[in-house]
Amino acid sequence: MADQVVKDDAHWRRHLSPEEYRICREKGTEPAFSGAYWDTKEAGTYLCRCCGKPLFSSETKYDSGSGWPSFYQPVDAGAIAEHNDCSFGMQRTEVTCRHCGCHLGHVFNDGPAPTGLRYCINSASLELEKSAGGS
Ligand code: FE
Repeated sequence: MADQVVKDDAHWRRHLSPEEYRICREKGTEPAFSGAYWDTKEAGTYLCRCCGKPLFSSETKYDSGSGWPSFYQPVDAGAIAEHNDCSFGMQRTEVTCRHCGCHLGHVFNDGPAPTGLRYCINSASLELEKSAGGS
């Protein structure tokens, strides 16, 4: 895909903290209720921590009680990619940034209307760009 970005490992190690690197590039998971955004309610757009592409809007963020930022849909279907993930003896769907391959989290079928989906995303994979005029 022409729009994809491929950077070498050294690039990501330079531009991410060790914790961000572990999550974004090695498919790690931050502890629940530990990340920067699990309880954030400010208006804005959540960008990919790695490449800056818009991934989720605060308008689709909701309190799932999980301890991770949760959204019921991405900004558009093309922003993310989904992959089967059979790790840890579970059958899950991994979500990544389509542009740069950053690991974001997983999507589950227990979300609210209108989609019924819960995108369960690591704060470490996101960067909130607050809306102009927002607090
Ligand atoms: Fe990205």
